[in-house]
Amino acid sequence: MADAIPSPFVDEKTGAIRQFQTLPEKIKGEYLPDAGHIGILGVKLAMLAPMIGGMVVAAPVALGFWALSRLGVTKAVDMVHEKLLLKHKSGDFQEFDFTNPKDRNAFQVKFGAEHPTFVDEYLHLAKAANLQQVPKVFVIEQFFKKEGRATLGGLVSDYMAGTTTRPSGKDPVIMLGKGALKELDAGELRAVVAHEMTHVALDHPKNGVKWLARMPLNGIINASLIVAAIAGPLPLLPVIGVVIASNVVGRALKSIKSRHQEEMCDRGAALMTGGTGDLTTALTKIKTAMVKMKRIETEYQYRSQGLEPPKPAETSWLNRFINASHPSNERRDTLLKDFEKENPQYAAQKRGFFATQFNKAAARLAPPAQKLVSSFVQRFASNSLAA
Ligand SMILES: [Zn+2]
Repeated sequence: MADAIPSPFVDEKTGAIRQFQTLPEKIKGEYLPDAGHIGILGVKLAMLAPMIGGMVVAAPVALGFWALSRLGVTKAVDMVHEKLLLKHKSGDFQEFDFTNPKDRNAFQVKFGAEHPTFVDEYLHLAKAANLQQVPKVFVIEQFFKKEGRATLGGLVSDYMAGTTTRPSGKDPVIMLGKGALKELDAGELRAVVAHEMTHVALDHPKNGVKWLARMPLNGIINASLIVAAIAGPLPLLPVIGVVIASNVVGRALKSIKSRHQEEMCDRGAALMTGGTGDLTTALTKIKTAMVKMKRIETEYQYRSQGLEPPKPAETSWLNRFINASHPSNERRDTLLKDFEKENPQYAAQKRGFFATQFNKAAARLAPPAQKLVSSFVQRFASNSLAA
């Protein structure tokens, strides 16, 4: 079959991952939404320009403000990353740096019985993704405690799986909820980690800061337009219309970009692990848990005020299109299945590799721990198409 290597992503000779997305994909999913967003700002600026001496004056002023806010936003995000994650003292999470043998050992002691190969796989995946730095692992325990949410048994961040870096792309961190570590099996956890590492490899956190840094300029332009409309020269209703419409379009562009990024990271996970079904079941577990938590939280809030909680509302298609940060689980599942259909041998081979490693490690565990992982071994046995 011609499916052995999913080119152009994987090197035919070495089997190494060359890229996670093609240039046309990057243009369509990232550059075009950004260009659209900047274009909207340009149009609004052009409306404002005649009142402040034309574009000759307006453009340099706007560019200057943009540059300054980019500096400010970048600095602020960098500080949050450093204070909240790298130099945290809160005890809300446990930090593991897998490049450090001590930390590898500490993780093994805590979670090794359930995830005997996690540390090795993690390092393997970071290498496969060509990351400059191995992301630190943060196991989250009641991260949102300060917001009083821990009253619900610390459920809120239990299923979290996320990643972030400094605005420079350095010092990546992968956050995993304790519940995720408990509930996800080895294959699911591996797929989730591979997805998060693809975010790092593709500089998604860094790009997110760039988008954020345009928001102050957007706000100033909107405010100036409305002032100009109230004070005289511009017609009020059309200006309000433009401000609202540009806001909606801006959000839709951000949503399109974000959903594209998620799809690229899902494929990254499939490329790195071959485990398409694993990611789907992980996503289902995470979503079910999140929905449940949200419901418990809402109910708690209403009941604590003596009110009857409302029935959960369905999100409309349009609302999703404008606001969703992730594609629907159904779409993600379809794309993953397509990947597997196109590259059956490759997927089976990758999965086979991890399955062998896992089964070997599981066999080395002491009997009580063996019992814990036996269900995973079985899952792998039926999953490992390593033929
Ligand atoms: Zn993601």
